[in-house]
Amino acid sequence: MNIDVSLVEEVVRKVMKEFNGIEQVRTSDNYGIFGTMDEAIDAAYLAQKEYLRCSISDRERYIKAIREVILKEENLEYLSRLAVEETGMGKYEHKYIKNKLAAEKTPGTEDLVTEAMAGDDGLTLIELSPFGVIGSITPTTNPTETIISNSIGMLAAGNSVVFSPHPKSKRVCIDIIKMINKALKVEGAPRNLVVMVEEPSIENTNILMSHPKINMIVTTGGPAIVKKAMSTGKKAIGAGAGNPPVVVDETANIEKAAVDIINGCSFDNNLPCIAEKEVISVDSITDYLIFNMKKSGAYEIQDKDVLDKLTSLVVDENGAPNKDLVGKSAIYILNKIGIEADKDIKVIIAETAKEHPLVQHELMMPILPIVRANDVDEAINIAVEVEHGNRHTAMMHSTNVEKLTKMAKLIQTTIFVKNGPSYAGIGVGGEGYSTFTIAGPTGEGLTSPKSFARRRRCVLVGGFHIK
Ligand code: NAD
Repeated sequence: MNIDVSLVEEVVRKVMKEFNGIEQVRTSDNYGIFGTMDEAIDAAYLAQKEYLRCSISDRERYIKAIREVILKEENLEYLSRLAVEETGMGKYEHKYIKNKLAAEKTPGTEDLVTEAMAGDDGLTLIELSPFGVIGSITPTTNPTETIISNSIGMLAAGNSVVFSPHPKSKRVCIDIIKMINKALKVEGAPRNLVVMVEEPSIENTNILMSHPKINMIVTTGGPAIVKKAMSTGKKAIGAGAGNPPVVVDETANIEKAAVDIINGCSFDNNLPCIAEKEVISVDSITDYLIFNMKKSGAYEIQDKDVLDKLTSLVVDENGAPNKDLVGKSAIYILNKIGIEADKDIKVIIAETAKEHPLVQHELMMPILPIVRANDVDEAINIAVEVEHGNRHTAMMHSTNVEKLTKMAKLIQTTIFVKNGPSYAGIGVGGEGYSTFTIAGPTGEGLTSPKSFARRRRCVLVGGFHIK
């Protein structure tokens, strides 16, 4: 018997429209990739309705499938390599670690802990329920990491998700969305729980943010888009820019501090929003700190003219970083100012005043200005000033508990790492789960499934309490 596929598709389309008020434009499987934002949102909307009928163990099965497909060696390698190739930013080995981290250490449904209140009047539960369809806007700096982490977290909380990636990371994002959809299909999950458009653009992001079927916006990016998302009138989670300072005082283990700072600053060529962006050190130990940094892969610029040349190359007069150099290696950047550096060089360092543009602006390049302070109290004050109230991330190397506490209280960052590299703050060599959406502005902190859930009260009157 000959089946007319287009006729069947047309009938399905009509039936879907009648029952759901929605036209599902493409019925053949496109593995989560849609021609228009409206199609993508409609598909995710339908998927979430279907997802409501799935059990918690179904959700766990789907999440496990996502973790497993990403953790396949060939997929991890492919995604990490393509992300560097396509965006021209970062380092393959570090992307690999970040993708693996997101797949392994993003929490699942166990994060959704029910609260209960029981008494003479009965039992009341506070349950963590899905928002519905989430619009997730993702950055070039962590393109696949953010999709892995947010897919797991948002699906764990019972949502579907429409991603709007940065156009510069289109190919790798399309590939990872397809990969996730294929894995979900094998498990029998509702189709289109995780979707995006073929051609990501600012226009498409705008459609996403204002679409009535989008119940929550999660933005991971710079200040402009975070502000825009927060003005949509929808529930928004904003994970914005940082400018993480690191303070080193005279009580620190200086040799270890130098190694940690260089490793944190050079991780993925300084792309992570949490990475060390400037050092403020107490005068008495600064020379020894610099000596140890140089032993660990730092190239020091002392000549003022060379520093001026570097500064005018990497940052413009408005403080915007040179996009061609974001996420490039220290060797590459040094080359651009005519310096041939040794292959072990990972970070460029230079002493500057705190007002210097290299200190003031978030560059996302392995360039680390060092500011001297007379004592630890002055160092803390400078760190608070140059963090600019982003409330993002800060580090301190010290064994003085009183001063560690003082800095933590004054700087008010979402992540505060003591005596370790910045990445310890997202679970690499530090305790705790991982995420690539760190929401300082809206206060969720390191997001996890419960950040993507609504608190709902469910009241049973007069029964079930056994106190
Ligand atoms: P970006 O702000 O240029 O882009 C982020 C996303 O927003 C992209 O999808 C982009 O297409 C979209 N976008 C940007 N401007 C827009 C506009 N006017 N209208 C509509 N959409 C717009 O950021 P990026 O360069 O991709 O990423 C780096 C920035 O993100 C840094 O500031 C970094 O600190 C921050 N970041 C923060 C976190 C966090 O968890 N807090 C994580 C990663 C990156």
